[in-house]
Amino acid sequence: MVTNKNKSNLNRRQFIRTGAAALAGAAIVPSVLSGRPAEIAANATIDSIHNSPGFYRFTLNEAEITVFSDGSFRLPSEIFAFSADQEKREEFFRSRMIPFDEVPMQSSPVLIKTENHRVLVDTGSGFSDQEGSNIGRLGMAMQTAGISPNSINVVILTHAHPDHLGGLVHHETQDAIFPNAEIVISDVELDFWTDNNVSMQLPDWMGPFLPGIQSVMETMDGRFRTISAGDEIVSGIRSIASPGHTKGHISIVLEAGDQELLIVGDSITNIHIDFENPDWLFAFDLEPETASNTRKRLLDMAATDGMLILGYHFPFPGLGYALKRSSAWQWYPAGWTVLP
Ligand SMILES: [Zn+2]
Repeated sequence: MVTNKNKSNLNRRQFIRTGAAALAGAAIVPSVLSGRPAEIAANATIDSIHNSPGFYRFTLNEAEITVFSDGSFRLPSEIFAFSADQEKREEFFRSRMIPFDEVPMQSSPVLIKTENHRVLVDTGSGFSDQEGSNIGRLGMAMQTAGISPNSINVVILTHAHPDHLGGLVHHETQDAIFPNAEIVISDVELDFWTDNNVSMQLPDWMGPFLPGIQSVMETMDGRFRTISAGDEIVSGIRSIASPGHTKGHISIVLEAGDQELLIVGDSITNIHIDFENPDWLFAFDLEPETASNTRKRLLDMAATDGMLILGYHFPFPGLGYALKRSSAWQWYPAGWTVLP
């Protein structure tokens, strides 16, 4: 059994080595998502964009859903399946083409347009100027998709890690990026991060990111609506308790007629490891065993009910299904649908 302390030291060293620290530290701050589309357009150059900003729009009965790409980054592979038997782990990684050094990750916030609401789930990192990172692209993606940040009524945070809440605040002006939205977060999650003793409860690697998270929370003070896991957030959109990755992590279910979309946030982060070996532990989960149980519960529910799954860190756009395979599951990506 790896102790939390040893694990944390390894993680922190690896995390910093890869520059992924910027994801939370620096990334939480700056933002290309200024809420001023004209300014973004004026500053955007071929050099700064690299690739086209990404979004994917589809419908689920009456609901219009747009998945945005906030960009991609890498995490050291050591943090994935750290609890597994090394030989089995290596064989599995090799057979699924999972790199042994760094695992590429996407970040994909999503907008749900219902009859009365425009609900954004998670906000990306804000920005990172770290070499090799291209996160913080939500603003460009929204602009390209024709969505103004001012039009968002509700922002839901699955949890308060920097790659999910960093896009709430402009790094220079400290302006709220979504000025007309209430920010929905679970009561457990908000309590955790605003507790005076939170630093004592965090693994070492998370420490450097705490000031950034708390700064965003301070800036947004008064804008939060806390919910209990399980509550309905707006009509047709409800939360599900999914603790483990963080204390108060929630997943989101959209009910759209006879279909359901399950937004898993970081309860499930890898389409191979977490589906096929959900018992293997992920070192970036605050409570790895709890997270593993949550993962299995969500996968079981999604497979049983035929729910469409959206994974924040899956290959873009992160949409697909879980199919039961003996004692585990298999990921089946959904095909793209071009809207008329
Ligand atoms: Zn994340």
